[in-house]
Amino acid sequence: MLNLFAKKTPPSTHDQLELRSFVSSLAEVEWLLLVLVVLYYLAPGTQVAEPAALVASMVGFAVFVIGFNYFTSFSADHRWQLAISTWVMIAFITWVIWNTGGVQSPLFNLYLLVIIISAMSLGKVTTMLEIALMGAAYFYVVMQQSGSFTLMEFSRIMIFFAPFALVAWVTALLASDIQAGKTLFKSLASTDEMTGLLNKRSLNAELHIATQMAAQKQHPLTVMMFDADNLKQTNDTHGHAAGDQLIAHIAAILKSSVRASDIVCRYGGDEFVAVLPQMSLPKAVEVSERIRNTVANTAFESHGQTLTTSVSVGFATWPDHTRDLTQLLPLADAGLYASKRNGRNQVTQAPQSGQSA
Ligand code: GH3
Ligand code: MG
Repeated sequence: MLNLFAKKTPPSTHDQLELRSFVSSLAEVEWLLLVLVVLYYLAPGTQVAEPAALVASMVGFAVFVIGFNYFTSFSADHRWQLAISTWVMIAFITWVIWNTGGVQSPLFNLYLLVIIISAMSLGKVTTMLEIALMGAAYFYVVMQQSGSFTLMEFSRIMIFFAPFALVAWVTALLASDIQAGKTLFKSLASTDEMTGLLNKRSLNAELHIATQMAAQKQHPLTVMMFDADNLKQTNDTHGHAAGDQLIAHIAAILKSSVRASDIVCRYGGDEFVAVLPQMSLPKAVEVSERIRNTVANTAFESHGQTLTTSVSVGFATWPDHTRDLTQLLPLADAGLYASKRNGRNQVTQAPQSGQSA
């Protein structure tokens, strides 16, 4: 379920894709609604109070659907705009009901389309409010037709709308189950099982957001790469399980050495990447050295043995080392390679712009 009103972290590409697919489903439902009304209008023997006005409203609705769905740019930050679409649907359906027999209209059930789309996308509370809006619109039709309001009319409206509320509730429940499944799936797909860090697949999206924010706010951005030293040797000497523990040990140090808002991912076997927004060059020097030092001086236990390890580090900071944000990762990698070449357990920063490597 897309919760249109929830306060969210910056939208990811997935949010944007999800929104695009929702907008296209919404457009399909709106076209379906229009087709049903046109079919009713064309069917022989159907009763329409003001045919010209009904046709005008169909044209108006079609123009709205085209303009709203195909010429409006939706951002995942402004998904609430979509609620407007359901309000226009409610107004159109009420007008159609009015024109096709009022309280006796066979098109009353068209409200179900709005209810389902709303329950799938706007959540339970908003959908209940939408049902109240439909009830009020329908009540207005009843008042206009009968000119009076009796307890019987009121209970008739309640009896009509109770199953709608039930459909809305059940649909919203199913939608939230689907959402829970999607959240779990997303988390499994983006997390490295052994370390609990983000995996390589998530890094691209996170790096993309971080570079966009850095460019937009003109804040520095640092990318660091780490690689365990001589893991193969640990595997060979102490077994693969000890190697796994070594990887988890480094991951834990990395995670606890950066801010909660920083991104740390397991990039591959024993390679890690940290994306550190708003981290200037002097701070990056300090943090990378602190991490290297902590790994080198913190032992870990493996099957009763106390083992130690070290990491080689490379990093690059924007805009100090490059003016091109897309070069941060390759430059950090080049720094890491230099650290390995120069004897391991050390930090190498990328050459600053204008210098040769
Ligand atoms: P270097 O100091 O040059 O980094 O040498 P290294 O031995 O760490 O080797 P390298 O980084 O080139 O390759 C990583 C090795 O770690 C390759 C593979 O045998 C091992 N490895 C990769 N993933 C895992 C893992 O999940 N668990 C364990 N135990 N070993 C792994
Ligand atoms: Mg290694």
